[in-house]
Amino acid sequence: CGIIGYTGPLDSKKILLEGLSQLEYRGYDSAGVALCMENSHIRVIRHTGKVSNLKEGCKDITEVSHCGLGHTRWATHGGVTTENAHPHRAGRVTLVHNGIIENYHQLTTEFHLEDKLHSETDTEVAAWVLDHIYQGDPIEAIAKLVGHLKGSYSFCMMFEDHPGEIYAIRNVSPLVAAYTRSGSFLASDLTALIPYTRQYFVVPENHIVKLTSYQTQLFDLDQKEQEPELLEVNWNT
Ligand code: GLU
Repeated sequence: CGIIGYTGPLDSKKILLEGLSQLEYRGYDSAGVALCMENSHIRVIRHTGKVSNLKEGCKDITEVSHCGLGHTRWATHGGVTTENAHPHRAGRVTLVHNGIIENYHQLTTEFHLEDKLHSETDTEVAAWVLDHIYQGDPIEAIAKLVGHLKGSYSFCMMFEDHPGEIYAIRNVSPLVAAYTRSGSFLASDLTALIPYTRQYFVVPENHIVKLTSYQTQLFDLDQKEQEPELLEVNWNT
């Protein structure tokens, strides 16, 4: 029910865990992070229950990561278990999801995924479909993925062969993004970004975002780059 993504010079583990605490009020039953380590290896840590359980589970990670995804889950498909918690890994893809993929059953059959799935979630099916479609260009693959999905979603993704980069797509579920001097951020809502920026943009429906440590880019489904409409937070916080 909450998503956070970060890539930049700061310690991503710290930013993701703090961001997830900020998003706790949205409600959830499990939490997880995926950290892209300096050797490009992606580490996934997931726990049922509170974000504090996840923090405890991440305590022993001493290696620094500068890029990662975080998620709080409100289970819709599959029970509250560690295997069903996000992030989900599927081949070269690591992904978190808010929302529901209504046609996950048909997709499982269409893409012959029965033997690949490790969880009972609709999300993991979408992750394997994306891995199946992916041929090295994340934006092209995400644009194609959308053509296969029915439902409501925002996804935040990392690709094994694109370390340091984060991609996201939104249709109904909310997503905001920001580029700051301390890196690029994505989150389900502003509360998680307020500590780092006053300038942000709302990801328009059916648009793809690409985050690197030095820029945030927006693309439409024709893979054409768009100018994001920047907004200022003007609360006196
Ligand atoms: N449908 C997904 C699941 O049950 C995502 C739920 C959410 O939005 O947290 O895992």
